[in-house]
Formats: sequence, C-alpha cells, structure tokens
Amino acid sequence: MEMKEIFKKHTVFSVEIFPPKKPGTIESIYSTLDGLSGIEPDFISCTYGAGGNSADTSTIDICKIIKEKYRILPIAHLTCVNNTKEDIDLIVQRLNEAGVTNVLALRGDKKEGVEPKNDFAHASDLICYLRQKAPHIHISAACYPETHPDSGSAVSDILYLKEKENCGAEHFISQLFFDNEDFYDFYEKTLIAGIKSPIEAGIMPVTTKSGILRMVSMCGASIPKKLSRILNKYENDPAAFSDACMAYAIDQISDLIANDTAGIHLYSMNRPDIAQRIYGAVKSML
Ligand code: FAD
Repeated sequence: MEMKEIFKKHTVFSVEIFPPKKPGTIESIYSTLDGLSGIEPDFISCTYGAGGNSADTSTIDICKIIKEKYRILPIAHLTCVNNTKEDIDLIVQRLNEAGVTNVLALRGDKKEGVEPKNDFAHASDLICYLRQKAPHIHISAACYPETHPDSGSAVSDILYLKEKENCGAEHFISQLFFDNEDFYDFYEKTLIAGIKSPIEAGIMPVTTKSGILRMVSMCGASIPKKLSRILNKYENDPAAFSDACMAYAIDQISDLIANDTAGIHLYSMNRPDIAQRIYGAVKSML
C-alpha cells in the first residue's frame, strides 16, 4: 500500500513487534497479535534480525499472518549490511509469494564475528536497489531525532535522510526518544532539507530500568532528567514504576499529537497489554 494514503485521514498509530526469539516457535506470535485486537493499528511492522535474533525466515511469515489472518497492513523490516544482492533478490521473491508489498529498508548493524557483505553499505543503497528491482514495493526507512550514533554530524545525517527519500523512501519511522523537543528540532531540520515524506515518532514505553538503560546505550538516545527521576524513584516499586512510565509515554504521545505529528509508532516489545493501555489513553486524540 502506498504509504501517503494512510496519512491522509488522521494521525497514524502503528505498532512494532519482533519475531519469537526461539526458532520454530512462530505460533507464539498469535498471542501477541490477538492481544492487539481492538487497537486496529494502521500497520504493524515486524523486525528482522534485530538484537541478534535469527529472524531471517519468520519476519515474512509473520507479515503474511498479519495481512491474511488479522487484515492489517504489514511492514517487513529488511536489513542489508549482511545480505548480498542475490540474498535480497530471494527475499523479494519471498515477499512476493507472501503478498507483502511494504518494507522498512535498513542498513542494520554489523554483527560480531560476521564479515559484512559488500553489496550494500547504507540503507539508501538498498532503497535504490529495491526501487529498481521491485518497483511495486513501497519503501519506508528509519530516521534519528538525536542523530545516528555513527554520524559525523546532525547535518550529514539529515542530508543522507534526504538521499533515502530521493532513492524512493515514502515514509520514515524515528528511533525512540524521550524528549519531544528533540523530535521537533529534528523535524524542523527535515523540512529545511526539503524532506516531504511523513515522519512517525517512535515511542518506547519504559518497562524496566535495566532494559531501557541497555537500549539507550545501544541506540544513543538520551534520558531527560524528568524520566531519570522516575526511573530512580520507583525502581523498587513495580506498580508505581509501571504507572509512572506509562504516564510518561502517554504524555509524550499526547503532546506529539497536539503538535500535529504525522504518526505514532509504538515499540510494543510484544507486550499487547502495554499497547492496549496506551492506545486506550490516546485513541480519542488520533
Ligand atoms: P543508514 O541510513 O545507512 O545510516 C547509518 C549511518 O550511515 C548514519 O550515520 C547515516 O548518517 C550514515 N549514512 C547514511 N547514508 C549514507 C551514505 N550514503 N554515505 C555515507 N553515510 C551514510 N535493526 C535491525 O537489525 N533489524 C530491524 O528490524 C531494525 N528495525 C529498526 C526500526 C527502526 C524504526 C529504527 C530507527 C532502527 C531499526 N534497526 C533495526 C536499527 C538499524 O538497523 C540501525 O540503527 C543501523 O545502525 C542503521 O540503520 P539505517 O537504516 O538507519 O542506516
């Protein structure tokens, strides 16, 4: 589906899931997807090989389930740094067989002990390749409100983002962030750079202090004082911790919607209970 179509009507609300971590346990994804019923997200995206998960085969299978059983638009994440052109051709063939026409094209991260393949250095290379080889596929891509950790500067990061759009990306999903001002500053720079595609704000509700500290150390996001105080004050009180972190995420989302952000992309961490709680609190604003 052409991405600009879904942004025409209202603030988009989308959800990200990841494949089950153990190989051969794809059925367990049904409980996650069943748990999301009632939310009716505009699309569900499914990660590919994130965090070292060997999801290579199940991402497309899960997208097929999302489309056929749940009648929701699926977006299959696809990384390129560890794939050759032949690998990508095979993946496109599998996407076609599954009837999946939307992809989030990513570079991915180098894996320890795995020599990266040389066909695609950056997401933009994959986007150009897909645009040429599989013009029927609609391409989304990632962006970074606090700048990608490998970037020389915020300016070059935005210019490369523009290159992704020039190559054929129709829509962007942001890395998680906890200070909306970072997103607004970044968004303003994308407008100055002439980027016109809709940009969704990626929101990750905090569930544990150790989990979020690990996550931000990997992706380079910062934790503002307001959130840091919550993490420290309630770390030994699970109920208060959960209430305070949910309130933080809901407050972030409400403010983003009030400021006309094109969409909210919820990193659900396969926790439909959390997605339901957040959706319930913001649905009238979407
Ligand atoms: P790129 O766009 O290639 O950017 C990477 C770096 O290179 C940046 O610093 C950029 O400024 C620079 N750059 C870009 N283009 C050029 C160029 N032409 N020349 C020189 N420099 C350039 N990882 C997974 O493994 N699986 C997933 O499913 C997954 N899902 C994700 C979903 C979202 C919404 C986000 C935000 C990230 C996701 N990631 C995933 C993580 C992602 O793979 C990493 O952040 C990775 O380090 C960068 O991917 P990218 O597509 O943004 O890379």
